[in-house]
Amino acid sequence: MEVSFDNTEKAFASKDDNTLKRAYLLFRLVSRPWMVSLGKHLTQFAFALHLPVKGLIKKTIFAQFVGGETAQEADTNTDDLADYGIGTILDYSVEGQDDEASYVAGTAEILKTVEISAESEGVPFCVFKPSGIGPFGLWLKAGTDMELGWQESEQWMATLARVEQICSRAHELGTPVLIDAEESWMQDGADRVVEQFMARFNKERPIVFHTLQMYRHDRLDYLKRLLVLAQGSGFKLGVKLVRGAYMEKERERAEERGYPDPIQPDKEATDRDFDDALRFCIEHIDTISIVCGTHNEESSMLLTQLMEQNGIAKDDPRIYFAQLYGMSDHISYNLVDAGYNVAKYVPYGPVKEVMPYLIRRAQENTSAAGQTGRELGLIKKELKRRKAGGR
Ligand SMILES: Cc1cc2nc3c(=O)[nH]c(=O)nc-3n(C[C@H](O)[C@H](O)[C@H](O)COP(=O)(O)OP(=O)(O)OC[C@H]3O[C@@H](n4cnc5c(N)ncnc54)[C@H](O)[C@@H]3O)c2cc1C
Repeated sequence: MEVSFDNTEKAFASKDDNTLKRAYLLFRLVSRPWMVSLGKHLTQFAFALHLPVKGLIKKTIFAQFVGGETAQEADTNTDDLADYGIGTILDYSVEGQDDEASYVAGTAEILKTVEISAESEGVPFCVFKPSGIGPFGLWLKAGTDMELGWQESEQWMATLARVEQICSRAHELGTPVLIDAEESWMQDGADRVVEQFMARFNKERPIVFHTLQMYRHDRLDYLKRLLVLAQGSGFKLGVKLVRGAYMEKERERAEERGYPDPIQPDKEATDRDFDDALRFCIEHIDTISIVCGTHNEESSMLLTQLMEQNGIAKDDPRIYFAQLYGMSDHISYNLVDAGYNVAKYVPYGPVKEVMPYLIRRAQENTSAAGQTGRELGLIKKELKRRKAGGR
């Protein structure tokens, strides 16, 4: 039987009325672009003046999209996910720090999540962003033929050593690690590094997972090349498929600098490549493991159909569906209820430091026609159902 995403009772079973009403209010607020822009500037201003806004943020937008200030807090606060069989992916979401000390501290924090993931059945993956553990500019240079200066070479060796520390610990403990994808101009460097670590640590099973952003028009071909590489070198390929989060930035930079836009010409092309990538992965499921990172109902549905057509069990460990905490619960909870493997990215970090992540989520939800309209409609439907006595 086909899974349905319409069941709001299942989707919001873990949320009490007050939590749902808070979510409703929040999604309504972020559906107004001027509100998001005002909120962004007001919070920056408030933090600059040391105004006591942390409590307010923590009870509102932070509570909706973030697990807590520490890994432990996030793990505990998301017990309801585990109660329903949904995995937690602890995502240390401190951004914009760019000195050696913060890379070292960030790596220590990620290593903590590797340990938690290994100890806890409810935490199936860990994750990190390359730019969180080494200078963005060096990831960029690593993808080119540019020579590194003496100091840069030292910094780059230190960055690679941190990647190695995380991946080798994950390998030792047998817990898979997802490596996020970022802006295209640093991604060539990241691709080279991720490929090397996959070849090294994925011999028996996928430990290191690459991320492919299907809004890039070159990524389907890249996926195919990765398979050839994996088959040729004898390693398992782990891929997280996403559409991609930096579209505007990508387009602006390409236009400013006069190089061809790396992004697909339109949304349909992104959707087509995302779905073709799913088909390709399923065709080669003996070598490829997938994390399908999307809030798109059609793509999620397609993957369930492909699994069924190919006789793949719903809980096959090679296939995970993943959403972000606070978003698209109707997909996560209905899929897990139907027997599929589901996990949520649960970001965590101090309130002030996760603000860039929160602003991105608010901006992503600023489209009444898209995600927000859908979230609002679903929450409204569930509140109405409960009011009518359907608890
Ligand atoms: C578990 C998980 C992990 C993630 N990890 C990463 C990561 O590592 N790196 C990263 O960049 N993002 C990551 N994301 C964020 C992800 O890229 C966005 O959530 C995603 O783009 C939203 O798209 P969607 O698949 O939910 O579907 P939709 O809502 O159907 O698609 C929206 C997306 O389509 C694309 N799009 C929209 N309009 C156009 C257009 N005109 N032309 C071309 N393309 C268009 C854009 O990518 C846009 O974000 C992750 C998301 C999840 C759920």
